[in-house]
Amino acid sequence: MAYSISLITGDGIGPEISEAASILLDVACGPLVSLTPLRAGDAALAETGHPLPQDTLDAVRSSDACLKAPVGESAADVIVRLRLIMDLYANIRPAKSYPGLPSLRDDIDMVIVRENTEDLYTGAEFELDDMAVALRVISKRNSERIARYAFETARRRGGKMLVTCVHKANVMRVTDGLFSRECARVAAGYPDVRLEQMYVDACAMNLIRRPERFDVIVTTNLFGDILSDESSQAAGGLGMAPCANIGAHSALFEPVHGAAFDIAGRGIANPASMMLTSAMMLDWLASRHGDRRCADAASRIERAVAETISAGIKTADVGGSTTTMGFTREVASRV
Ligand code: ATP
Repeated sequence: MAYSISLITGDGIGPEISEAASILLDVACGPLVSLTPLRAGDAALAETGHPLPQDTLDAVRSSDACLKAPVGESAADVIVRLRLIMDLYANIRPAKSYPGLPSLRDDIDMVIVRENTEDLYTGAEFELDDMAVALRVISKRNSERIARYAFETARRRGGKMLVTCVHKANVMRVTDGLFSRECARVAAGYPDVRLEQMYVDACAMNLIRRPERFDVIVTTNLFGDILSDESSQAAGGLGMAPCANIGAHSALFEPVHGAAFDIAGRGIANPASMMLTSAMMLDWLASRHGDRRCADAASRIERAVAETISAGIKTADVGGSTTTMGFTREVASRV
């Protein structure tokens, strides 16, 4: 059986890193994976009048998984909508240091599990006289399911077996109070995993001071957005940072970074983020369908990226001089 993957090629450096990922997936998976390129984002808006055209949405919903490159100014109309429509409640952002990359330490290996559907990102904002108001909604249901996802992730990783629940419950007593209580309640069902509670400001500091101490961080939407850029930078930069958006029945995979217009079209973008994102997608397909071939392809991609970097073949953002395609050829030859 071939898995049908919708590939949103995006804006800025999106098409360049999408091409790199397509080449790699072809080498790593052959006919196991079939990619359908789709448009969404600024270019789609200019062409069709919609940042997320209906035919793209239909194709994404009927495929086995979606791989998405970054889109530009219309990002909120694309990704926030897709997350809500598909109820992709868990945003997963691993941060791992690789030998040969500039990082704060060489033993960083954590994953941020971020609630993806509520908090201040629902767009519930309005003006009232001379004030602007945003509504922050934190629900028991969503806090419970993201906490459960975090504990399951800690178990699956089998590392430090530690979940750090990050919030600001000393100030936002009602909303973050509920979030931290739900994490503690879920923790009771996972006696093999330790739970620690940490305020978001302390977490921001510890990600710089002692990033190696973390295993799984679970947090609300806005805090997770900010902390995951910090953790990616601590581990080697945005060009290396993959991300998954997971729901009960579907999933969408995208690099953490944006469209990086400043370097678009120059052939120097780091495609590792999109490659590692593809590996996350294959891992998800493997566990969803019990398919070892996907798990095997995922670990071959991850290993080939790591080997290429430790051989000193790197793009400029991580201290090298290789081009996007040069790096892609090297990784492909190691897969
Ligand atoms: P957004 O708001 O959508 O996150 P942004 O403009 O704030 O986007 P990014 O597009 O993520 O930020 O890029 C931030 C910086 O990191 C840019 O200067 C860009 O050159 C660099 N960058 C991001 N991704 C890559 C990559 N894959 N390869 C090389 N450099 C990158």
